[in-house]
Amino acid sequence: MRRSLVVGNWKMNGSFELIDQWVSNYTGFMETTTETVVCPPFVYIPFFKNRLLTSAISMGVGAQNCSQYESGAYTGEVSASMLADVGSSYVIIGHSERRQLFGETNEVVAEKAKRVIDAGVRPILCVGETLEQRQNGQTVEVVLSQLNAVLDVVGTAGLCTGALAYEPVWAIGTGKTATPEEAQQVHKILRDSVKSRNPADASLLRILYGGSVKPSNAEKLFSCPDIDGGLIGGASLKAEDFYAIVQAASAVEDIN
Ligand code: PEP
Repeated sequence: MRRSLVVGNWKMNGSFELIDQWVSNYTGFMETTTETVVCPPFVYIPFFKNRLLTSAISMGVGAQNCSQYESGAYTGEVSASMLADVGSSYVIIGHSERRQLFGETNEVVAEKAKRVIDAGVRPILCVGETLEQRQNGQTVEVVLSQLNAVLDVVGTAGLCTGALAYEPVWAIGTGKTATPEEAQQVHKILRDSVKSRNPADASLLRILYGGSVKPSNAEKLFSCPDIDGGLIGGASLKAEDFYAIVQAASAVEDIN
């Protein structure tokens, strides 16, 4: 059985005040069996970690991106080993906003995956098609090329240290969610592709769904056999909504 994982991606949102309030609101919620992680902007990682520690909340803190380089003259970049230093347990790589707005190619994402794993941190690899690609029938080709570019560099064992996230670009921040059937179909294709390389790793790999997950739709999505949790953007900024999604993942964990 795979332990469910729910990850909050705060994107470029947050402040000391918001973190303080968020952690206060989260304090007192019952611990669940779901592994839970929040990825605030880089600069808040140590503060977030400390706030969780002093509130005795058992939750990981991760990052939303890292450099493909190890160190040196790369002004403005943050390396995976620096993220390990400040206590990040996971790093999101290949988010569609990084691919679309910052021109990250499959090759760059694969280099980042390698840096993250070498630094002893867990990657969360995002894959997903745009609306146009879906309408052109290219979904499978796109997500498999994004997946395979990374597997060719880090292998199935490398990816299994972290997680894979299927995030249809047309569902991110739009309020439009893939139906559980649409999501499950792609998740199964992704798992089968990993299986063709290594069946044991495929059954261990956690595949998260991301794209307008809310308390109202989480449980149906997480009930699908190949959906092992979620990558949550907007709804993770409200502690109550995030917790409701974490609870939904725990509720279906035993079924999957
Ligand atoms: C995301 O940013 O990864 C995401 C899924 O965002 P949202 O939940 O807001 O669609």
